[in-house]
Amino acid sequence: MQADADSLERYRRQTLCPGLGLQGQRSLSQSRVLIVGVGGLGSWSSELLVRAGVGGVRLVDSDRVDLDNLHRQTLYDESDARAGRAKVVAAAGRLSQINATTRVEAMETRLDSSNVEDLARGCDVILDGTDNFPTRFVLNDYAVQSSTPWIFAGVVGCEAQTMTILPGVTPCLRCILDGPPPAEQEVNARTSGVLGPAVSAIAAIQALEAIKVLTHQLDQINPHLLKIDLWRNSIQHVDVSQACEGENCPCCQQRRFDFLSP
Ligand SMILES: [Zn+2]
Repeated sequence: MQADADSLERYRRQTLCPGLGLQGQRSLSQSRVLIVGVGGLGSWSSELLVRAGVGGVRLVDSDRVDLDNLHRQTLYDESDARAGRAKVVAAAGRLSQINATTRVEAMETRLDSSNVEDLARGCDVILDGTDNFPTRFVLNDYAVQSSTPWIFAGVVGCEAQTMTILPGVTPCLRCILDGPPPAEQEVNARTSGVLGPAVSAIAAIQALEAIKVLTHQLDQINPHLLKIDLWRNSIQHVDVSQACEGENCPCCQQRRFDFLSP
């Protein structure tokens, strides 16, 4: 009884928002989120969702905390970098301090086609916190095959993009991109740099899209590919609805899951 009263008080300011309400809060508390990569994007999105009161988060990452992570990866501090702690371990410790009622699972591994099914089992939505396209295409194949919503995101410099993919409803990643770019052409934070505020902005949008999915408000999902350049002050909503027309997508239309095959 006391726990219920505490939770009513704890989430009062967000349940006052008509989009969420008490019913939405209940749905959040019964949900589990897979966060693939707890670098910059995953730090922000996991913290926002844990603070919002999701029932569980499963964190997947094989990296250790480094000094050059700290300007944007907000779950970590200097002691984590000095100790070279595993990110999932440090993140799980911090998130459990923030909200002891959320079940936090730390999976210290790299997600690929051989383990995606095990890692994603039982999760209601998948958040992309990766920094590479090969993993995103594995996630896209798995999500479409299993009808699990997933939220793509990426940031380089001050340019960020995100798209919510609802299998069977919206275009998938492969509708708009044939496949991962060649490794030598892939740009990422490691090679091109990244600014913290751009990461937090796009991760916040990812977290809110996840809240809409988890509270079953799919009509509120942003159907566009959202591109933001925070340095140049531009926001673009790219209409990708035509990408799904015809029978061209090998993944969501022909149901060929090339990136799940060994
Ligand atoms: Zn598709």
